[in-house]
Amino acid sequence: MEQPSLLRRLVERVAEVAIRRALGYAAAADVSLPGVDVDELIGALAPRLASFDGVSYRCALCGRGPFTRRGLYLHMKRVHLEHVRELVEAELRRRIFGGLPRG
Ligand SMILES: [Zn+2]
Repeated sequence: MEQPSLLRRLVERVAEVAIRRALGYAAAADVSLPGVDVDELIGALAPRLASFDGVSYRCALCGRGPFTRRGLYLHMKRVHLEHVRELVEAELRRRIFGGLPRG
């Protein structure tokens, strides 16, 4: 069985941290990529994953809720993990290639 690529593992790790950050868990971006501020990327992505009204959490990707924090964490992991990975990849691409001229 083929090992997941380095980029794939980085994306998976950033997705995990972004989900935790979205739920207010203290989660450090313990991965780095030259030229990309991974912590800033997570800070930009996390608010797009979940909302909190002071009492309960709601999934910002499908609108489901209310959840407890733990409940939404499990929901994100079970239902949206691949989607969150895609969002992380899109944000990485934008930061790496977004500033380059087309052509
Ligand atoms: Zn959802």
